[in-house]
Amino acid sequence: MLSLQGIAVSPGVAIGEAFVVDHEGFRIPRRFVPQDAVEYEIERLQRALDAAAAELEQNRQRIDAQLGSQYGAIFSAHLRMLQDPQLVEKLHELIRTRHYSPEYAVSTTLREYAEAFEQLPGHVLPERAHDIYDIERRILRQLLGRRREELSHLDSPAVILAHDLTPGETAQLDPEKTLAFVTEVGGVGGHTAILAKAKEIPAVVGTGRFLHEVAGGDLVIVDGDHGHVIIDPDAATLERYERERKQHQALFQQFEQLRELPAETADGVRIELAANIEFPHEVRAARRRAAAGVGLYRTEFLYLASDEEPTEEDHYRAYAQVVEAMEGRPVVIRTLDLGADKLGRAPADGEEEANPFLGLRSIRLSLKNIDGFRVQLRAILRASALGPVQVMFPMIATLGELRRAKMVLADAMEDLDEQGIHYDRRIPVGMMVEVPSSAVLIERFLEEVDFVSIGTNDLVQYMLAVDRANREVAELYQATDPSVLVMIDRVVRAAEAAGKPVSVCGQMSSEPGQALLLLGLGIRRLSMPPVNIPEIKAVTRRVRCDECRSLAERALQMDLAREVNALLREELRRILPDLVNHHPTSPDTP
Ligand code: PEP
Ligand code: MG
Repeated sequence: MLSLQGIAVSPGVAIGEAFVVDHEGFRIPRRFVPQDAVEYEIERLQRALDAAAAELEQNRQRIDAQLGSQYGAIFSAHLRMLQDPQLVEKLHELIRTRHYSPEYAVSTTLREYAEAFEQLPGHVLPERAHDIYDIERRILRQLLGRRREELSHLDSPAVILAHDLTPGETAQLDPEKTLAFVTEVGGVGGHTAILAKAKEIPAVVGTGRFLHEVAGGDLVIVDGDHGHVIIDPDAATLERYERERKQHQALFQQFEQLRELPAETADGVRIELAANIEFPHEVRAARRRAAAGVGLYRTEFLYLASDEEPTEEDHYRAYAQVVEAMEGRPVVIRTLDLGADKLGRAPADGEEEANPFLGLRSIRLSLKNIDGFRVQLRAILRASALGPVQVMFPMIATLGELRRAKMVLADAMEDLDEQGIHYDRRIPVGMMVEVPSSAVLIERFLEEVDFVSIGTNDLVQYMLAVDRANREVAELYQATDPSVLVMIDRVVRAAEAAGKPVSVCGQMSSEPGQALLLLGLGIRRLSMPPVNIPEIKAVTRRVRCDECRSLAERALQMDLAREVNALLREELRRILPDLVNHHPTSPDTP
């Protein structure tokens, strides 16, 4: 049994067989093969060894011709190692007598060799370990082929264990087949984490290195409430988690029963609970949880689904579907918030970026591609003829950006006017407050927009200078840091003074203790993944606004996120004790 602790990012407990994808996207298969498949597996290994040898020979000839035989000799050495009769004999024996799968036999044997080299003194010999890893990868590539695409269509339900999943890959996961996923890297605020919640797939990220210790088919428990991952559990542990899974389901079913009741505090103050969505089909989940509207539609996932830039019709079809399904409830459509952070690569024609979160992302990208931006805005405007649509610009850092974005919007309106196409002329125009500069100058921004929505995921990242998707600094990523709370307080007060609506659409809205804090700071509109709405409604209905206010006042006076977290835990324990077990301590700040 192997126990890991990672960062819990999407709730629920799942138990199932592992589907393992290593660093390079290879699927790591089952460790063992049945007796009657042994001869077939030995043949398969031989074919892979032959193909790898042919590949090496080709490389040798090419490099000989290009650079001379002294360089080609590197490949000759690899070739000799690959065809070493002792190695081949050992692999056969492991398959024949221990029933190892060829992949497992190759990995264990070559890693053993590499580790032996790594232990040797000096520089030269330990470096040979790289050569051995290279040979291992070469054979595995032949045995497995590139299998990453399999993630989106698994044959049977499984728990995905991967080094990393890009937001694009996570977006493709089938929730029916993906029982849960675990990644070695990643942080609490990353888009992979956000998508896990959107898809209602239990998930743990940032566990650190462990894939070398697992194989496909191993039994895994993933506890997305506490961040625990257990591989090959013993019977007692398995039983405990089966119980836990049932309790979790029972608690959440209880919350779901509040569906018909209003989101209202115990002293009768209405709170608007809206849904964050990434794909049009999520409106079904939003309606099922009685969302008051769509508070954040992250349209960039339309771009992640394909390599081609979406056409105006692609945009329009997606938006129309959402607006119509929401039947008169407001829908906030956010313009493209794309960048290397979500793509896992530089945007088209862009350069590799060392700091994607500080780079060509979001509104900056839209303002660089005005034609594409206008296409999206036209589609949003056209959708506004179908129901109450609001348009929102992401990551606004300066008034100049806001004004330029509004000018492109005005342009798009003029075009539609000329063409006689209908849209809502009074469409509310808002912006995200997620870059500290916009919070600092919020009064001036409020003069130029109809509403603001606080994006705490990025606000925390930019306030504290901590990458939201990096496990190495995950403990520093604290939405409850008093500096963040002071900023939110400032924005809420300014919006109240200006008489403009303000909401929160970052993850803070969906964390019960932090949601209480937001109510205390004066927020009355929260937008979150549909899966969290019932739970937040349950919490809201148990508290009074004055209790939340005094909670926020105390939090604002504190020095450390750790102190605020303890205060929130205490408050939650008082009002909804069952929940505290499902939302254990937030990571403490040092
Ligand atoms: C945020 O930053 O809080 C937000 C809602 O936007 P995203 O998570 O898409 O960056
Ligand atoms: Mg953001």
